[in-house]
Amino acid sequence: MAAMDPGNERDLQTEVDGLMDGLRSDLERLAAIPSISFPGFPAGPVLEAHDLLVELLHDAGVAHVERIDLPDTAPVIFAEIPPPHPDAPTVLLYSHYDVQPPGDESLWQSPPFEPTPVEGGLRARGIADDKSNVIAHLGMLRAFGGRPPVGVKIVFEGQEEYGSPFDAYPPTDPERFACDAMVIADLGNLRPGTPTLTTGLRGAAEVVVEARTLQEPRHSGEFGGAAPDALLVLLKALATLHDVHGDVAVEGLRREEWEGAGYTEDEFRKLAGVVGGLPLLGSGTLGERLWSGPAITVIGLDAPTVAHAASAVVPYARAKLNLRFHPRQDPHEAQDRLVRHLLALKPFGVPLTVTPGDTGPGYEAATGGPAYRAARTALREAWGTDASYIATGGSIPLVNGLAQAAPGAEVLLFGAQDNLCNLHAPNERVLFSELRATVLAMCAFVREYAAGFRQGAAS
Ligand SMILES: [Zn+2]
Repeated sequence: MAAMDPGNERDLQTEVDGLMDGLRSDLERLAAIPSISFPGFPAGPVLEAHDLLVELLHDAGVAHVERIDLPDTAPVIFAEIPPPHPDAPTVLLYSHYDVQPPGDESLWQSPPFEPTPVEGGLRARGIADDKSNVIAHLGMLRAFGGRPPVGVKIVFEGQEEYGSPFDAYPPTDPERFACDAMVIADLGNLRPGTPTLTTGLRGAAEVVVEARTLQEPRHSGEFGGAAPDALLVLLKALATLHDVHGDVAVEGLRREEWEGAGYTEDEFRKLAGVVGGLPLLGSGTLGERLWSGPAITVIGLDAPTVAHAASAVVPYARAKLNLRFHPRQDPHEAQDRLVRHLLALKPFGVPLTVTPGDTGPGYEAATGGPAYRAARTALREAWGTDASYIATGGSIPLVNGLAQAAPGAEVLLFGAQDNLCNLHAPNERVLFSELRATVLAMCAFVREYAAGFRQGAAS
């Protein structure tokens, strides 16, 4: 494969168009492998996906490919292409080759591991999240004949969806992950055709709150009215977490104006599947509610079920809360604010037991450096319109691990997914238009970044 002229936008498009058939068939091969690294699923397909990617990397001209084996996780593919000259920057490319389980297969319009054409794309589990982005990285390598104008480090992980001890690994081996910029390709666009850089990730924390009021259930006719009802106590506590508008009412959780792009309310209603005409929670912009402010969700409740309800005062009830907080707030501080709020309540004079659970830090990217400049140019070139900045409520723990390992590196989050991909849901799909544009964007990014770096070094 001849290396193209990296300076020419039209050459790049022609080159990428010529690669698309091959990339599509490799994406189909990869998406046909049920590489689910959850407990209870066989490990064979995960290793098969691993081996296929190693082969594809070799074929794309990457000589140095190794595997990082850690306990309790799938092998991590690590590959390296040295910089073409000493002044060239090094870019780390990340994505993952494992997928979510398909869930209830009867909800799928075609078998989840038989990639099936849909309008403008393909349907299969994991074809967007994150195999499309694995293929986009490969596309970039192919476009440059395995010799991109930057040094490249590739990290393809195999247990992202379930959670992996690899998240904590990069800071223990910083030399290996040293780079000037990283492209974390495990997401995509605000909507198809809208190039998007995700610059913030909210942090997350869990808290369990319990009320114990009686030794055991007591007849609600004889005791109800005076015996303290644990479920009522708990519900009263949960009702204090939001004000009348639905805004989080716990003090000390950071909330700031969101300055990037965002969904319209109608778009969000559709995406969230809000039942006809109902208002959304909270006030202010959606960006503020979803990305630069807190959210508290009651994700589980232990109480008698309606089907098995006895006429009795409930002695014990418990809820699990999921807190999402501002990308820059300290996770323990945020969690502590919620814990203290609950401890201070004592609904009807009953103290609650509050147990803090796991926390995960958020992330906010610095967007003023040369890699961001290059990425903005690249995304505009690939999609024909300026990039939007968004954040996401989901956290990607590995981002923090990589950022700690390479503290000076700029972190870019973009990729081939879009908001209508059905990630983690039945009928996941990816669009060829987004895949093609992502390959173009990756190529244009390394070209622009290398050129900017040279100028930076010369001036
Ligand atoms: Zn993913």
